[in-house]
Amino acid sequence: MRLRPIHVATLFRIPIRVSYGWIPVVLLHVYAVSVFYLPHHLQGFHPFAYWALGVGTTLLLFLSVLGHEIGHALVARAEGIRIYDITLHLFGGFARFEHEAYSPGAEFRIAVAGPSASFLYAVMFFLLNQLSTSVFDSRPAALITNYLALSNLILALFNLLPGFPLDGGRIFRAWLWARWGDYWRASRWAIGVGQGIAYLLIGLGVFWALRARTSADLFAGAWSILIGIFLRDVAESSRLSLKQADQMRRIRVADVMRDPPALLPPEMTVEELAARVLTMYRSRTFPVSRDRRLHGILLVPALQALPRERWAQTTIREVMRPVAPLLFVHPETPLWEAHRVLRRNGLGATAVLDANGYIVGYLTLEDFRSDAHTP
Ligand SMILES: [Zn+2]
Repeated sequence: MRLRPIHVATLFRIPIRVSYGWIPVVLLHVYAVSVFYLPHHLQGFHPFAYWALGVGTTLLLFLSVLGHEIGHALVARAEGIRIYDITLHLFGGFARFEHEAYSPGAEFRIAVAGPSASFLYAVMFFLLNQLSTSVFDSRPAALITNYLALSNLILALFNLLPGFPLDGGRIFRAWLWARWGDYWRASRWAIGVGQGIAYLLIGLGVFWALRARTSADLFAGAWSILIGIFLRDVAESSRLSLKQADQMRRIRVADVMRDPPALLPPEMTVEELAARVLTMYRSRTFPVSRDRRLHGILLVPALQALPRERWAQTTIREVMRPVAPLLFVHPETPLWEAHRVLRRNGLGATAVLDANGYIVGYLTLEDFRSDAHTP
């Protein structure tokens, strides 16, 4: 069973969620900081003070992780991509977008925003650290800001490793994509390197754990193994969905198009349509044509706005959507591209025209639902 992440806040109109796996990590972090890290570096405080500082440090660390994801999300929004939500989970954070970037430039800018934000926090905590030692002379504040500056620096550097799904892998893919002009090949390479890095982390973790002298070493080794497994899983599922999308890209409109329900002559009246066509064909849309030349597409629900007494004088030509680039595709058009046309033209239907401009088929969104080609 998979539990849905809990919605905890909304920032910049983005829902922020935390997964259940995130909670034990937070508790473990509070514990490690309050019981080991702080008492080790800072003696003579009340136990309660260590716990309060531990909670504060943990809060700031996870705000830093959140800030990293918000960095990605805000740049993605500036690139015109809708953001669904940000989820904090066991291994960090994840921002979900409506779709991937459409250009290597956009991909690069979105990917680089997260590590840039982390670098910025590292610098900010470093400056606060200088301030706490030189101006306020506060040992606890210096210790915490030092810890947070280092954590953010590590977060930025780790995410810059050049393997997908890490940010560095996305940057690497954007670079290859711009160089080769081939998104698919660039993705395969970035994912391949990502799998390599994942196995490297697993191997490193095993080595670390086997040679561990302290429980902290053992913990670090186990953590490295877990992160490696996590990255390997994400890279593997990315590889599979990429393969699927790549196959999808090879399917053409000609492979799935149907005959049009009926071709309506433009001079037909709405009265005739209601009496002769709508009684026979159950279709939301009809292509309008003469001599198999497309004149437009009629959207049947749009006729509801037309008063009954005007049906006899109104012709289809007056109420149809006249022919425009989003109203037709070609038999050779890749199916995923046709799907985008169908979703964007507000009709959910498109005519298929051959090279001479004659109607040879018809495609609707229902055709995608009725078979397995839905992207
Ligand atoms: Zn990131």
